[in-house]
Amino acid sequence: MGLTSAAIKGEASRLGFDLCGIAPAANLPDLQHFTEWIARGYAGEMHYLARTAAKRADVTRVLPSVRSVIVLGTLYNVDRPYSTELLDPGVARIARYARGDDYHDVLKTRLDALVAWMTGAHGAALEARAYVDTGPVQERAFAQQAGLGWTGKNTCLINPVLGSWLFLSVVLCNVDLTADEPGLDRCGTCTLCLEACPTAAFVEPWVMDARRCIAYLTIESRSPAPPDLEPAIGSHVFGCDVCQEVCPWNDRAPVSPDPAWQPRAAFDHPPLATLAALTPGQLEEAVKGSAIRRAGPDGLRRSLDVAMRNLAARGHV
Ligand code: SF4
Ligand code: SF4
Repeated sequence: MGLTSAAIKGEASRLGFDLCGIAPAANLPDLQHFTEWIARGYAGEMHYLARTAAKRADVTRVLPSVRSVIVLGTLYNVDRPYSTELLDPGVARIARYARGDDYHDVLKTRLDALVAWMTGAHGAALEARAYVDTGPVQERAFAQQAGLGWTGKNTCLINPVLGSWLFLSVVLCNVDLTADEPGLDRCGTCTLCLEACPTAAFVEPWVMDARRCIAYLTIESRSPAPPDLEPAIGSHVFGCDVCQEVCPWNDRAPVSPDPAWQPRAAFDHPPLATLAALTPGQLEEAVKGSAIRRAGPDGLRRSLDVAMRNLAARGHV
């Protein structure tokens, strides 16, 4: 059997990916917007983004022989209330994607299996690169081009059936594959996400100043949050889901039965005080094999301190 788009999609589904689409390895307008976004300083301390900007703007700099970009989507939604539905400010808010196993590890194993299968089907002439989030590829731009959905005003990729609780990953390859039709914007006149953001991080629709985003402040930044933003961080200790939770396309988002994404007990809406009371050793043990490691022990401790201060300011001990 030769390597066809249909065969790749079948194998991707067998390996546990919920969505698979193919985009041509072309220059997309969104890739140029990214360069502008960096130039405006919105990436803050995420210097690795600026360092890889040239590659991100042109996928042939990542793999010179690239002809197609295979984009995979994996639903990680689980059957738990949204953070905006939790009334108790004493419950730690942890981003939905980070409560189970580290998606980098889980999905890379599946991507490697897909590439191995592709090599079997195409032979040794196959050249491919697989990335989960950390590669120099603008996955979201290619996801829209590959028909997985559209980029919402909240800057997330939204699928009309599955919503936006999706991990994106890509395989670049040197095979001319039949491409899918791009996804169409279905945000319409809605502005719910822009209005709901606790820190007013959206400069305009589709443009987020990461320096104000709670996900950046609690995960990426190595500096303390600006004092004026601290109260708005509330009980968020790792990431933020607010602009996705209010999105009508997530109202009936299906949940994934995949054991990998089910919340670990330590991160399943734990009391803030319980997390804050963990010793450094206990905290390190809890985040083993979890995406929460990315914040680093100091970052996590800093976020817990902020959340505890916010809790105290609301009259909770
Ligand atoms: S993740 Fe939270 S802080 Fe960041 S833009 Fe969305 S709502 Fe705002
Ligand atoms: S909340 Fe509304 S504007 Fe924001 S991403 Fe969802 S549909 Fe688009």
